[in-house]
Amino acid sequence: MKISRFKKSHKTLVYFATNFDYREPYQVLIDATFCQAALQHKIGIDEQIKKYFQCPAKLLTTQCVILEAEALGAPLTGATSIVKRFHVHKCGHEGKPVAAAECIKSMTKDNRYIVASQDRLLQESLRKIPGRCLLYLHKATPVLEAPSKASKKWVQRRAKNLMLGKQVEKIDYMKEKQGLKPTETTPNPKKRKGPKNPNPLSCKKSKKEKTKPELKGVEQTSLVKAKTKRKRVKIPAHVKAELAKD
Ligand SMILES: [Zn+2]
Repeated sequence: MKISRFKKSHKTLVYFATNFDYREPYQVLIDATFCQAALQHKIGIDEQIKKYFQCPAKLLTTQCVILEAEALGAPLTGATSIVKRFHVHKCGHEGKPVAAAECIKSMTKDNRYIVASQDRLLQESLRKIPGRCLLYLHKATPVLEAPSKASKKWVQRRAKNLMLGKQVEKIDYMKEKQGLKPTETTPNPKKRKGPKNPNPLSCKKSKKEKTKPELKGVEQTSLVKAKTKRKRVKIPAHVKAELAKD
């Protein structure tokens, strides 16, 4: 049983490591509901998680989690004292605490935390987001939840995109190798269709010619003037002088 449980957790950890960049030592973000369940089943969180993962793990919590647990008072006194033992990670809500679930959600946005919680609403909302990893207690045993549908879909989509990308690359490579198709890629034929009627080019010329007469008045006269001016300039002054002398 223990071996198969380890295999399952290991498989899940590897999945999250390869697809979502989770890295050792895995960071486990723990809330008071998890501590409460651990207390009820008389298990040591630290020991159990390390045994279960069989690799280094950092156990963390946030100030928001502690404050919420404290605010709930007597029923959670034991859980509160447990959760306070973990390293308190900065959550960005210092001075403006939010609900523990909201804090945890925001923490998982940019960081790879394994969320250890018994809060079903929090679990549900995290399952909808690809790449979120959940740990909970089933009675006295920790369970690393298999990747959610959202995570699997995301991974499948990425794999498809990669495949498509690779296929396109392969096809392009083959085309180049055969010396057939580098020019036959789809965009070119479209372009060719245009130039195949060489008329447009000639038309353009004719259009220019046609347009010029329309603009006649100023432009043409100025052009003519420019040309004549150039001709005048081309005749050197000395020559002119000599001509005048003659
Ligand atoms: Zn917070």
